[in-house]
Amino acid sequence: MNSLLRHQCPVCISSRIGQVMEAEDYTVSHEIFAIWECADCSLRFTQSVPLAEEIGKYYQSANYISHTDTNKGIVNKLYHYVRRTTLRRKSKMVQQQTGLSTGKLLDIGAGTGAFVHTMQGAGWQVTGLEPDHGTRLRAAELHKVNLLDTAALFDLPEAQFDAITLWHVLEHVHELHLYFDQFVRLLTAKGVLLIAVPNYTSYDGQLYGPSWAAYDVPRHLYHFSPKSMAHLITMHGLRLRVMRPMWFDSIYISMLSEQYKNGKGNLLRAVWNGLRSNLRAVGDTGNCSSVIYIIEKATGS
Ligand SMILES: [Zn+2]
Repeated sequence: MNSLLRHQCPVCISSRIGQVMEAEDYTVSHEIFAIWECADCSLRFTQSVPLAEEIGKYYQSANYISHTDTNKGIVNKLYHYVRRTTLRRKSKMVQQQTGLSTGKLLDIGAGTGAFVHTMQGAGWQVTGLEPDHGTRLRAAELHKVNLLDTAALFDLPEAQFDAITLWHVLEHVHELHLYFDQFVRLLTAKGVLLIAVPNYTSYDGQLYGPSWAAYDVPRHLYHFSPKSMAHLITMHGLRLRVMRPMWFDSIYISMLSEQYKNGKGNLLRAVWNGLRSNLRAVGDTGNCSSVIYIIEKATGS
């Protein structure tokens, strides 16, 4: 297994980096990975991650729920209810933030295509990218949507998208800065970029420490804080317009984290911790378990 040993922060390139903890891959390999932090931008990142060509085997799990659409069990039922509600909210958010009822959207890391399908239903012209061949076939089967391989990102014609969305995807992307170059190239002058990522500085992130489910090593290469996201956005000549909370994530992540930490679930405690996390995010979205960053071109013209 070849891995990538980083000597610099993958966001701000600072060499002031050091290990803060070790975390287990609870869902697939049960291997241990080191998590490092940058003293300058506060990004945490998984050290010595498998290379892009070799990380595929860490995605091979029936439990990797975001790529499956089974409907068994209370937790899965809840997950699917939340997903329907969240899909509607995301769709409205795209319309509000672009100021358009219909337009052109690029969804990166489309999974089985639920969001692409929702936006097509709302009248949008959508291009969906998904790296996994099997998942693309599932998307065609489930939602009748035709997704392209993620490599197509680099070949799409420029300045054509009113919105680009990455819902819990950026933390998986090896070529972080190359992707940002593409966002800048592909967005229209007034286009918006919507990026949802977990936030390790949240209450649940701090409470569960190495057992926090959103570390999800080694699949999550980066563990963003609002500060490190702000740095990344500015580096690429973009501007943060606003942050939006994702209220359900704190509870869902707390449910998984309880399982990881104690070997069994504790629904009541997870809901309690999730709500406590949300309470701290009421006045400050930067404390939320997962944050949607709404980003625009700095020129705005
Ligand atoms: Zn940094």
